[in-house]
Amino acid sequence: MALTGLDIYKKLPKTNCGECGIPTCLAFAMALAGKKTSLDKCPYVSDEAKVLLESASAPPIQLVTIGTGEQRLEIGNETVMYRHEQTFYHPTGLAVEIPDNLSADEIKKKAQEIDKLIFDRVGQKVRVELIAVRDLSNKPETFANAVKIISETTPLALVLVSFNPASIEAALKICADKKPLIYAANQENHQAMTELAKKHTCPLGVLGKNLDELADLTAKISAAGIKNLVIDPGTADLNARLNDITQIRKLALRKTFRPLGFPVITFTPENMPAEEEPIYASVFIAKYTGIMVLKGSVPWQVLPLVTIRLNVYTDPQKPIQIESKIYEIGNVTNTSPVLVTTNFSLTYFTVEPEVEGSKVPSYVVVVNTEGMSVLTAYAADKLNEKIIAKALNEFKVQDKVNHKKLIIPGYLSALSGKLEAETGWEIMVGPREASAIPSYLKNIWGKVSQAVA
Ligand code: SF4
Repeated sequence: MALTGLDIYKKLPKTNCGECGIPTCLAFAMALAGKKTSLDKCPYVSDEAKVLLESASAPPIQLVTIGTGEQRLEIGNETVMYRHEQTFYHPTGLAVEIPDNLSADEIKKKAQEIDKLIFDRVGQKVRVELIAVRDLSNKPETFANAVKIISETTPLALVLVSFNPASIEAALKICADKKPLIYAANQENHQAMTELAKKHTCPLGVLGKNLDELADLTAKISAAGIKNLVIDPGTADLNARLNDITQIRKLALRKTFRPLGFPVITFTPENMPAEEEPIYASVFIAKYTGIMVLKGSVPWQVLPLVTIRLNVYTDPQKPIQIESKIYEIGNVTNTSPVLVTTNFSLTYFTVEPEVEGSKVPSYVVVVNTEGMSVLTAYAADKLNEKIIAKALNEFKVQDKVNHKKLIIPGYLSALSGKLEAETGWEIMVGPREASAIPSYLKNIWGKVSQAVA
């Protein structure tokens, strides 16, 4: 059960010294109960109180790290049931399976395919982050050999899928330094798996036959000192699993039920038709899975999933922004046109391909509108003559071209008089829609460019 602010307050020194950055112990206790600060901010909590208060300061869903360095994936540590309540912080990690009973060449080829599953979405690179090596052979040597081939082919983080502790032990001799996720401890093997996870400081997956068994297992494994757990309630049927995972999330967040306060891993069922796999996986990306393991590695199977993940894990209150600066598209010269747009990613990545497609090398001045599109920014007074003039100066646009002609979006036509007065640049009103940019640059700018050349 979570402690209330008052429970926490009773354990604090009550000196109101303010060293935690909060003026009183009571206010600190309230902030701690609301997960808005951490216990380590108070240097005067006794060791005894620290142990008691740990449950109030620990996240309701454990943050778990798999892999190291740039390949590191963090999952869990979510605080809300629904995205509109706040936001979701750690996107579902996508993994693709490789069975260990394929030939060496097939394993290598599949690992190379998975390594290339990278997509460009609105200026962001999104990808598959993990390879799940499955011990179908049930032979430690074969499993370890598959792990070796994959580790030599790609730096992607690994999930070691086997219920045989001997296979996991053999694989860890190859890849323990990559801190793979061991999947999984179950009722039969949990002692041996816990020892391996402890010895190699690797995260551990836990598989139960139902929620009760799962909670029982995680309690035992946590008591043995392993906190980095990823859980699987064992159900495969879509409805039953969705129900289980929703229960896990509710119990973790609303009841602070520690034994189920871990991120979840989901595998697509055996023998699922290839075209059904993305549908199944998308349900669990939307609803609470920390790692989604797929069988298919063909781009059409993965692209919808990275797109759904991007949508679910993008904070709607924070528009995706690109860097505000002057962008060069094509081989620009000092006679190239200068266009203005905003730093809302969707706006820029609508404008950029049209400018590129026009084959007219251009400068695009991206004004910082706090991620708003043209009309929204104009209405909110985030895109006015002063802000555009400031951007022109800041990016030293005049040093790049031998003319003073600025093409503004058609929706800003009302601003042209004021902008001309503020900047001293001649304002040309461009098209309203990005799709008309190529013909504008070729025809309208084409005539002007002869004069500036
Ligand atoms: S640092 Fe500790 S003792 Fe001081 S005000 Fe904060 S909670 Fe109270």
